[in-house]
Amino acid sequence: MNSSHDNVHRFPPGGGRVFTGIPISRGLASGKVFLIRSAGYGAVSDQRIPYARVAAEVRRLEDAFAATKLQITALMTELQQQVGDTTAAIMDGHLMMIDDPFFRDSCKKEITAKRHTAEWAVNETARKTASAFASMDNAYLRERFKDVDDIVKRILRNLQGNSAEPHQTAIKHPCILVADELLPSETLSLPKQLILGIASDHGSVTSHASLLARVLGIPAVVGLGKLSEHTQTGDSILLDGSSGVVIINPDRHQQQAFGKMREQEHVSIQRLDRFNQHPGATRDGHPVPLLANVDYSTSTEQLTAVNAEGIGLFRSEYQWLSLNREPTENEQYEAYLKVGRVRRNRRNAFGETARPVIIRTWDLGGDKIVLGTPAKEANPFLGNRSIRFLLNAPSVFRRQLRAILRASAHESIAVMYPMISTLEELRAANHELTLCMEQLRTEGVAFDPAIQRGVMIEVPAAAHIAGVLGKEADFFSIGSNDLIQYTLAVDRLNETVAHLYQPTHPAILSLIDLIVHAGRSCGIPVSLCGEMASDPVLAVLLVGLGVSELS
Ligand code: PEP
Ligand code: MG
Repeated sequence: MNSSHDNVHRFPPGGGRVFTGIPISRGLASGKVFLIRSAGYGAVSDQRIPYARVAAEVRRLEDAFAATKLQITALMTELQQQVGDTTAAIMDGHLMMIDDPFFRDSCKKEITAKRHTAEWAVNETARKTASAFASMDNAYLRERFKDVDDIVKRILRNLQGNSAEPHQTAIKHPCILVADELLPSETLSLPKQLILGIASDHGSVTSHASLLARVLGIPAVVGLGKLSEHTQTGDSILLDGSSGVVIINPDRHQQQAFGKMREQEHVSIQRLDRFNQHPGATRDGHPVPLLANVDYSTSTEQLTAVNAEGIGLFRSEYQWLSLNREPTENEQYEAYLKVGRVRRNRRNAFGETARPVIIRTWDLGGDKIVLGTPAKEANPFLGNRSIRFLLNAPSVFRRQLRAILRASAHESIAVMYPMISTLEELRAANHELTLCMEQLRTEGVAFDPAIQRGVMIEVPAAAHIAGVLGKEADFFSIGSNDLIQYTLAVDRLNETVAHLYQPTHPAILSLIDLIVHAGRSCGIPVSLCGEMASDPVLAVLLVGLGVSELS
């Protein structure tokens, strides 16, 4: 059974054209297409200006920069008000670029030295900057060239005296937005109350537009290939943000199947609401706490609304990915405090227990490549990823451990190491934790000396030595997404081999059994925090196998 593809199979083949892309933001949406195409900025012509106009042209350029900065700042303020946290910082890169002296001077030089128009100057300078980004080996940085694109389009619009947000006035009715490419500031400037869903040809999990769609809670699918070429404004469209399926002009059967999915979703939500009144448990009273996985982009409202008994996995690395740099120790500390505080303040029907929020240390590398990790690896998922990256960069690791420890003085927090594969790694990680504790103690900074230390079991080797690892840890959390990938040698992101990605493969079940027994013999709890835990059928199987918590 392949749970992540369930929804795909629920759509019968039919008259509507089916596209499958990368699911970005969960939720079902149906409605009419509103098609937008990116204009590109190649249409600027190479006109020279007379010498006498140079000064005025430079002023025009500066005015356009100033107007652009104002617009971006206004969009960021609006976002801050909407999601009530620091997510708007993902637009910092835009502001940095507008203020970047090198970028500004290069534009000015095109005008003063070569007597180009301001439009040409911006276009030319941006083209060079963007192509430098686009040719980078690092996928994350490559993606940042979209931010350049975004800012340049805005400057050009301002130069042309057009300061209106392009889609804000054009969209008048609720719709599903289809675009070849959606840029971050475009996503922010959409009339959000009218946007039921977003589907785009390009984009990736780490693109800023994707992150914003998630933060704003708009169902979204990206990487849909040539969807925008096969649809037009007014077409009917169905979108499933969980499976990544989009159907254009669905026939009656496909509409009915979608209607059923909606009903099921509704029933699931009602069921979840019922969980809010009772702690998770089997019918015979065996407790199975249901926890939530969240990340840095999860807003305060979403954190408050989560009907779960706790946070079983906080994917800390999204803060780094969002900011496009390592967050400072204080920024990390604030983020951990925030998630801890929201959970503490939330009261559900049975009273929130003091279950710690589990902060996973940076799970970088693999597909989440950032500055500071090697630019090119032949097999990034087998390379300098997760705990390996952290142990190779002790100062980065220590900054994070200090932030987690400091937050643990105020909120109930546990720390968890990802992708452990040897006992030496666990010992080295615990050693770093002890060092940080000693440092803080010397500095007179408070922390929880009994902070719980968890190990993610997501590599088959770790499952086999779990009995040894468990003696030096306080809990295990099975990362089934990776455990399946590494055990079955199936890239979890590769659609072509998705049929081989089988959570119920006997090898996976026997590894889970092994881990549960090891946890039991060491006297520590074993939870599971991969996608598998979200499938109601598999959840029953997992509880039967002895997994004590599902996240
Ligand atoms: C996992 O591997 O199952 C897991 C929860 O971690 P991630 O999906 O973030 O790699
Ligand atoms: Mg993992």
